[in-house]
Amino acid sequence: MTIRTRFAPSPTGYLHVGGARTALFSYLFARRHGGVFVLRIEDTDRERSTADSVNAILEGMTWLGLEYDEGPLYQTERLGRYNQVIDALIDKGLAYRCDCSPERLDTLRREQLAGKDKPRYDGHCRHRDLGPDRPHVVRFRNPDAGPVVVEDLIRGRVVFDNEELDDLIIRRSDGSPTYNLTVVVDDWDMGITHVIRGDDHLNNTPRQINILRALNQEPPRYAHVPMILGADGARLSKRHGAVSVVAYRDQGYLPEALLNYLARLGWSHGDRELFSLDELVELFDIDQVNKAAAGFDTDKLAWLNQHYIQHGDPRRIAHLLSPHMGRLGIDPAPAPDLAEVVVAQQARAKTLVELAVISAFVYRDCDDYEETAAKRHLRPAARGVLERLREEFELLALDDWEPVTLAHTVEQVAREAEIKLGKVAQPLRVALVGRAASPGIDVTLHLVGKTATLRRIDKALAFIRERAAAV
Ligand code: GLU
Repeated sequence: MTIRTRFAPSPTGYLHVGGARTALFSYLFARRHGGVFVLRIEDTDRERSTADSVNAILEGMTWLGLEYDEGPLYQTERLGRYNQVIDALIDKGLAYRCDCSPERLDTLRREQLAGKDKPRYDGHCRHRDLGPDRPHVVRFRNPDAGPVVVEDLIRGRVVFDNEELDDLIIRRSDGSPTYNLTVVVDDWDMGITHVIRGDDHLNNTPRQINILRALNQEPPRYAHVPMILGADGARLSKRHGAVSVVAYRDQGYLPEALLNYLARLGWSHGDRELFSLDELVELFDIDQVNKAAAGFDTDKLAWLNQHYIQHGDPRRIAHLLSPHMGRLGIDPAPAPDLAEVVVAQQARAKTLVELAVISAFVYRDCDDYEETAAKRHLRPAARGVLERLREEFELLALDDWEPVTLAHTVEQVAREAEIKLGKVAQPLRVALVGRAASPGIDVTLHLVGKTATLRRIDKALAFIRERAAAV
């Protein structure tokens, strides 16, 4: 049997991390077992579904690298099929038309609540055999009694009682099919063997099983993934900061970090923390997912992100970094190669946004010096060394503008002035970068380049003179 899983988002918003984790688990399970992963867009709620949201979901999936083998399939393109199934159920007496007025249903509800009963439809229209001419909804005739057992791959056996379930509406009065019906028909037609989804759908599962059985179909296996909680113990939501996958991208996270994080959220393999997508495909299994809700830990995600930035292939990191440089108004196309900048900086940033900020100096003169750095290092005492450095740098041929020669020049100026290397390197660094932190001074000089170095030393000298004059 070929394993077939699906991710079935409703396009009523962006792809959030909970959805992405469900998609990841479905993807991994299919890949692990040599199966097929289907993307289905559940867009029958026309009022809430938007094309922007479909695009946001596809964008999130693409960014994460969760490739689907089939789809995206759109439910709105399958309305004819749903109606065919509904009509067949009516013909077989397994569904019926109901014209109960909202007033009647409301009175029923109030009476049931007053009698401390659970509000449920009383089956009033079950045997009335209504025709299609008057306005009506269609209800599924749920079995009256007996258990519905869900052997959930994560939660184990969950038993529901048919007495708790009423006759569910499967087609609204406007002729549109409802969620539980469309899901059942799709899972059936698409040959889905394993339904992996959020546990907010667990209560729908007995209803879906009942409908499938009415259609003479064997239900698929189910795995209900526990929800994700924010630091305060409440279900993760916008209030907790970024929850959209694309927002994490925009905040400078790498897809491999988010995937690794989401996989580890409620799943483990010994105490190992680091997994590539390929390794996850090899090691993941759905029945090892934790039953309990998982807490979202921003620090852990940041740690993973830093790890993947630090150890990532510089070319790839540069490719992902480029749009973040663009957002700072920097075009990293001219020299130096951004990958070279990444090599110098990748151990210093937790996010690509940080990496862009600390690398901006390579391509752009800073507007302002950081105040403490300027106070400490751009003082009149630094003037002499900065002037000497400038003379020496000016003499260097462009071909010699390499870390080894540059280090040598800085050391030579320090030796000659009989001061410690730091006393030379720090004023120079602040002049070049605007702050007291950067890669080694030789690499910093190399990345900044000769022309900009001379220009920035001049600017720093002017700054020192102005400050001295102002005192
Ligand atoms: N469309 C549903 C949702 O986005 C998921 C349905 C399912 O996975 O069965 O919550």
